[in-house]
Amino acid sequence: MNDSIYYSQIGGDICTCYPVHSFNITGDVITSEEPYVSVPNKALDSRCEWCFTSSNLKKCSACQVVWYCGRTCQKSDWNLHRLECQLYSKLDKDRRKSLTPSVRLMVKVYLRRKLQNAKIIPSTVTDNHNLVEALMANLVNLILQWPEISIKETAENFSKLACNAHTICDSELIPLGTGLFPVISIINHSCLPNAVLVFEGRLAVVRAVQHIPKGTEVICRVFG
Ligand SMILES: [Zn+2]
Ligand SMILES: [Zn+2]
Repeated sequence: MNDSIYYSQIGGDICTCYPVHSFNITGDVITSEEPYVSVPNKALDSRCEWCFTSSNLKKCSACQVVWYCGRTCQKSDWNLHRLECQLYSKLDKDRRKSLTPSVRLMVKVYLRRKLQNAKIIPSTVTDNHNLVEALMANLVNLILQWPEISIKETAENFSKLACNAHTICDSELIPLGTGLFPVISIINHSCLPNAVLVFEGRLAVVRAVQHIPKGTEVICRVFG
């Protein structure tokens, strides 16, 4: 899972998170995590699918849905976008307009699991956590008319997804996108935190804001 933190469980649910050693210095990195999946916000400006910048963008010519700032970001996203692109390329203009960031996030969760099951991208222990099961498949199916997804999934899954999605912000707290962070989602929140969640590009970083002795629960303040 993660070397610097461990979790306690009640009834099979992971509920609290502790550091394996003390953090003495404010600003120490307790843990960090790349998003399991992420999507840029649908605002006035388009943003790069991978790094969320709004400069030098080019649209994917096949699907006309996603933008990239260059080859590096396009390459980093290719494993997943290859499948997403095939799906979106088949949609007519109206259906393409229904692809809100939340719908795209769910499509990406589904596709990422598919790639992991096919062993095209590696799984980690946390990837199998229940959070990642949070697919609101009926909505995806409704919009994409995509028979591959079963309609059995319920609103409970949607609320799980909504609760565990984090807004990815820049250093001035301007929202850039939304991401799922299965490990970081486990950390409890409070207005009296001993840690803070900040974003460094697409990486979510939890830093100590005070001395945290070994065995003390990490409680986070989240911006965004
Ligand atoms: Zn980029
Ligand atoms: Zn595409």
